[in-house]
Amino acid sequence: MTLTEKLLARAAGKAQVSAGENIWVSADVLMTHDVCGPGTIGVFKREFGASARVWDRQRVVIIPDHYIFTADSKSNRNVDLLREFAREQQLPYFYDVIDDPEGHWKFDPAKGLLKKQYGANYAGVCHTALPQKGHTRPGEVLFGTDSHTCMAGAFNQFATGIGNTDAGFVMGTGKLLIKVPETMHFRIEGRLQPGVMAKDIILHCIGEIGFDGATYRAMQFDGPGVASLSMDDRMTIANMAIEAGGKNGIFEFDARTQEFVEGRTRLNGTRSAFEPVLADADQKFAYEALIQLDTLEPTVACHPDPGQRRKAKELGHIKLDRAYVGSCTGGKTSDFVEFARVLRGRRVAIDTFGVPATPEIVHDLQTTRWGDKTVWQILEDAGVRMTENAGCAACLGGPVDTFGRMNQAGLKCISATNRNFPGRMGHKESQVFLASPATVAASALAGKITDPREYVAN
Ligand code: SF4
Repeated sequence: MTLTEKLLARAAGKAQVSAGENIWVSADVLMTHDVCGPGTIGVFKREFGASARVWDRQRVVIIPDHYIFTADSKSNRNVDLLREFAREQQLPYFYDVIDDPEGHWKFDPAKGLLKKQYGANYAGVCHTALPQKGHTRPGEVLFGTDSHTCMAGAFNQFATGIGNTDAGFVMGTGKLLIKVPETMHFRIEGRLQPGVMAKDIILHCIGEIGFDGATYRAMQFDGPGVASLSMDDRMTIANMAIEAGGKNGIFEFDARTQEFVEGRTRLNGTRSAFEPVLADADQKFAYEALIQLDTLEPTVACHPDPGQRRKAKELGHIKLDRAYVGSCTGGKTSDFVEFARVLRGRRVAIDTFGVPATPEIVHDLQTTRWGDKTVWQILEDAGVRMTENAGCAACLGGPVDTFGRMNQAGLKCISATNRNFPGRMGHKESQVFLASPATVAASALAGKITDPREYVAN
């Protein structure tokens, strides 16, 4: 069996499962956020009763992150609904944006869009926050009401996005009927060259198979090249499995996974026991590809979908209006460090936005020094508008007052985010080009799509 088949067999209490089989699996964690949480709660209450209790308080994680720092009252109301539900159910893992469980978040114009407007429990973007807060464990099943839930596959778990109806059912029962996906195998060898990042790996893979090339399939990443990839790198890759239509992305377990998970569960006092799933000798794959890291070059997915793969060096004719680094995929500490590596001592030529995924990342960037400056200062000195308000921000557009949102037709943005269908970051006639933080940085300096090796080699 493949990693996904083995893991699902265990979650179903079976010795063996095959691709295509429908099985009931037990969930280890259910995650929801402010966009889908209210709908999920509505389904749960409708089907299980107004006074029903969730199946396991310790296994429901609620992370408001999408439409948070906005004056839009409907968005604010969604977070209020989560707060009420968490209080009613006494959920220990509700990462509220404010500290007062009876209060309401309100935009503070004095702090504006750049200064922190959240309390001590706020966790930021759900997929990045889950591992930071100790909720990802090898061998487990994670369901989340968000398509990029697949990011947790970096930790050797089966993690997938589900709709509100399924999530309402999981909330009440802890179980879900799913079809075992076929597995596509991406064997990774070699080492990335300077200026090339994990984002380039996954944009390359999606370019190979197209934006629907992995529809309802598992994408398994393994091979000797994985050892050189950090957990952040693996998260970037697993995150975008859904951009090829994948059911999930999954990595093998190794010492790096173990160190990360043990550290985070200890730090947060979350469940620490886990049992990774290890590869069998007789895995059967529906597709096989060899990814040679040494040969990869900075890659861009052009408008209008993540499968429109081109090399950055071929796109110098595309002039840009703005650049954006942020999101679960591209707003991690390591992403901002690579962004800063290119921008250090230089000035951007176009509007450039930086949105860390979580408050912890804001703290990292404001305290990590590089010479006499912090990474945060280096980015601000380069002209990047850095906000402390960690969250999804303009990755999915959001209300019109969202930081970095593309509100005008015709704007072209190079972005470290993960999705670029029309209208994704705001106006339906704007265009998004997906790239690594290094490529975003080089392009922000030049005002046109640029291969970062032009700067990294200097
Ligand atoms: S950062 Fe973007 S992709 Fe990630 S959860 Fe938020 S909206 Fe979705």
